[in-house]
Amino acid sequence: MHRFVRSVAAGIAVTFAGTVWVSLPSEAQQSREEGELTVTAVRGGLHFLVMPTAGNLAVSVGPDGAFVIDDQFAPMVPRIQAAVAKLTDQPVRYVLNTHWHSDHAGGNAGFGRAGATLVAHENVRARLATEQESRFFKVKVPPAPAEALPVITFSRSMAFHVNGDTVRIEHIPNAHTDGDAVYYFERADVLHTGDVFVRYGYPFIDLDSGGSLAGMIAGLDRLMQIAGPDTVVIPGHGPLATRDDIRQFRDRLAEAQKRVRKLIAEGKGLEEVIAARPLADFDAEWGRSFIRNDQFVATIYRSETGA
Ligand SMILES: [Zn+2]
Repeated sequence: MHRFVRSVAAGIAVTFAGTVWVSLPSEAQQSREEGELTVTAVRGGLHFLVMPTAGNLAVSVGPDGAFVIDDQFAPMVPRIQAAVAKLTDQPVRYVLNTHWHSDHAGGNAGFGRAGATLVAHENVRARLATEQESRFFKVKVPPAPAEALPVITFSRSMAFHVNGDTVRIEHIPNAHTDGDAVYYFERADVLHTGDVFVRYGYPFIDLDSGGSLAGMIAGLDRLMQIAGPDTVVIPGHGPLATRDDIRQFRDRLAEAQKRVRKLIAEGKGLEEVIAARPLADFDAEWGRSFIRNDQFVATIYRSETGA
């Protein structure tokens, strides 16, 4: 059988017997089977699992079992299971997704088959269940298998009472995608933000999945209400953070929005806005992202104009 893997933008396209299958979008997944999986104890039985090239995981362990937020890529499932097994002899009872992207929900089928109950916003289930098309990455993503679909969904909010803590789950509308959820562990005072807040530079805002810049900014305002001064913030990607880091990220996005809006108000079209390089000074801090400056400007333009 004819099979190979190649990189497309930051995504991975797998040509399999002539069909292009894509796992997307991928906030950096080139070496998805190589990177080091590191486990850090946060507090209150909560752990932070990181592989540099994939989404961050939070794992709560205790008498009620293991409770996992996000599950990276399908090939990572055995390594995540092994890492959890070192923390507890209890099974993984629940896996919750922050959104549908395959670097966060790609392990769902593996965990679902192993007996975990999958939980996510209703739009995550809807997108996983159907073919998705990304204009940005110019790829299509096939529907996920049935065992990868969340069996419990919510529309606005819900709470879990596990391992001596209360986990408040809240939907953040039309931000990174249309199915984002954030998870706040009240007693531990730890917040997992999913990709509403990331630390790799220019953020990917998935307009094709219902995301928007305005929703990102509104969502970050909401995160600053949920988080307190001592909250440990687990971003979707990148190192642990604080509420101040969320504020800086939010202010920078708002500044970018202001500058692009000004050019749009002057009647400039997409090409002219990009040529004006309104965010040239952002590169020093954000230029290492897999999203380039001009791509980010174009995303803002499209988000603001609907073009
Ligand atoms: Zn994402």
